[in-house]
Amino acid sequence: MRQSVQTQMRESQPESVDIPGTQLRVSRVALGTWAMGGWMWGGTDESASVATIRAALDQGISLIDTAPVYGFGVSEEIVGQALAVPGLRARTVIATKVGLEWRDGKIYRNASRARIMQEIDDSLRRLRTDYIDIYQVHWPDPLVSIAETAEAMRTLYQQGKIRAIGVSNFSVAQMETFRRVAPLHVLQSPYNLFERAIEAQILPYCRTNNIATLGYGALCRGLLSGRMRPDTTFQGDDLRRIDPKFQPPRFAQYLNAVRRLDELAQRSFQRRVIHLAVRWMLDQGISVALCGARRPDQVEAALGVADWSLDGADRALIERIVNTAVADPVGPEFMAPPQRA
Ligand code: NAP
Repeated sequence: MRQSVQTQMRESQPESVDIPGTQLRVSRVALGTWAMGGWMWGGTDESASVATIRAALDQGISLIDTAPVYGFGVSEEIVGQALAVPGLRARTVIATKVGLEWRDGKIYRNASRARIMQEIDDSLRRLRTDYIDIYQVHWPDPLVSIAETAEAMRTLYQQGKIRAIGVSNFSVAQMETFRRVAPLHVLQSPYNLFERAIEAQILPYCRTNNIATLGYGALCRGLLSGRMRPDTTFQGDDLRRIDPKFQPPRFAQYLNAVRRLDELAQRSFQRRVIHLAVRWMLDQGISVALCGARRPDQVEAALGVADWSLDGADRALIERIVNTAVADPVGPEFMAPPQRA
């Protein structure tokens, strides 16, 4: 008997991938927990966040990404709380980060050895664990040599406190320098249908050098969820109040692209734009799509991406839709944190 697409989606699990050079195998759809921290997302709801993490694990997502700076410790604490159930920590791969410090609500890059050695213990405590699976330098710090940062990461790796070393928002040249001192297993960079800068050099470099790639902002801060409307507004310190994609006249262009992609997803694949966007990333060759969510009902990408794929013609059509709808594209550069004064 033929199953409905909905039944197939409920029964399917997202595919998984090995992180080269480590013992880790992770789901190719991961859950991002930045918004759960509240900071830059207009506030947090702790119990909904915990329920979201557990819903993601139930749906076969095994990789949870967080960072100390997300809510200044709040996101890591929520992850620790969500996993404090017998058996859950052992089957979850935790990725967190290091190298941003905060003072009076402002953040700065600090990837010095001293900062890294302090942050690791803070993160282990908040996450209620004695090891971190993937530890990533959040942003390159121009005031600290990459060799110093890499050496500190190598020390933690040798001590067994971390099981894989990652960097985030690094260029090819910065990764090259880093790898002269320490192994590099993971790169995390922005990547989605609207933000493709890493395709030029970074993705090919990682592929050639066996570095797993985590693409963050898979839903472009919710645009590609398909739930945004022209009159959608954001509250408090929500970063989408300053994100140039969410301002006129660009917002209408991006929404138009999403509408047309959603029509294509329904017509050709019996899916929605959120599934198409994540499937597209995976078929472009990124190892993992990092999707943010903070309510259990938002964890819907993982189920809809299994057991189908896009061919070259589909991807060319998708590209045409984006290129014609978005006349004035802009990247995610506005999110880069400043260096220390
Ligand atoms: P994203 O995946 O681009 O968008 C997440 C947001 O989209 C959600 O918070 C939610 O916004 C909305 N959304 C998601 N699913 C939805 C659904 N089914 N229906 C309606 N709305 C939905 O997220 P991101 O959080 O910016 O990026 C993902 C993760 O990547 C982060 O959480 C973080 O772990 C990581 N990241 C890393 C860096 C870095 O520098 N390394 C930078 C950015 C992100 P609302 O909750 O407001 O509805």
